[in-house]
Amino acid sequence: MSGRLAGKNAIVTGAAGGIGLETSILFAREGANVLMADISPEALSRALAKVKQLVPTANKIETTLCDVSKESAVQAAVESLDSWGGVDIMFNNAGIMHARDDDAVNTPEEIWDLTQNINVKGVWFGCKHAVLSLRKHNKTKGSIINTASVVALVGSATPQLAYTASKGAVLAMTRELAIVHAREGYRFNSLCPAPLNTPLLQDWLGDDKAKRHRREVHFPTGRFGEAIEQAQAVLFLASDDSSFVNGHDFAVDGGMTKAYVTPE
Ligand code: NAD
Repeated sequence: MSGRLAGKNAIVTGAAGGIGLETSILFAREGANVLMADISPEALSRALAKVKQLVPTANKIETTLCDVSKESAVQAAVESLDSWGGVDIMFNNAGIMHARDDDAVNTPEEIWDLTQNINVKGVWFGCKHAVLSLRKHNKTKGSIINTASVVALVGSATPQLAYTASKGAVLAMTRELAIVHAREGYRFNSLCPAPLNTPLLQDWLGDDKAKRHRREVHFPTGRFGEAIEQAQAVLFLASDDSSFVNGHDFAVDGGMTKAYVTPE
């Protein structure tokens, strides 16, 4: 199969959600073999059906149930690709933003721990087992992309402190891994999405117009981003087109993190 990812084996975590599903579709279209990993069995089977329907010519597309906060689950997912020849691309994208996440005073400790376990430890486990797989299969290049957020780059007066801290950790961890593994040919980059039209945020905002306006006024383009716009950036970072891009905080945000004031 031809395409920008022809012959590559990819894992996408959070593959049943907004960014993960759009990325799985693009990866499949570009010729990759894709393992879609998620914690939700129902969403995962719906997502698989969608990829198969949209990319009927896809190579291998498989799913695995995986809670990224459990190392044994991440290890099993990565090692299941040994029979494919090992991992080339790891997209550590699963993440949560909990409804009870709040400011320093009001965030419950259990929500803090849950958020760090999934958003930070889950990314670490994905990076760790991707490196082990790349080495085991004697690969001289690999691309690991970790989903952070614009809140790792700018502060927000609408607080989700545990989430913000977790995404800052993803950014710092990715930067260091990029340097540590650079001479092995393994690239690590962070994706920093702006607020998006995906269930993660939209379910929480609901039809609360004031809450929406509070955010939209800060968007230079005046709109939320779309998951497919993130997926296009992930495809670039995954492919050899970005062979000299390493340790980058890749903001896909319509200019939001560069704005002083926005157009009226
Ligand atoms: P989403 O809620 O649509 O998808 C997230 C997916 O992760 C879901 O399918 C969910 O089942 C899965 N998941 C949750 N916990 C998991 C776990 N422990 N193990 C495995 N899978 C798990 O969200 P999305 O918008 O596609 O978000 C993807 C990533 O992008 C997240 O890391 C999120 O923090 C980040 N992000 C989102 C936004 C936004 O506005 N939506 C902005 C910046 C960053």
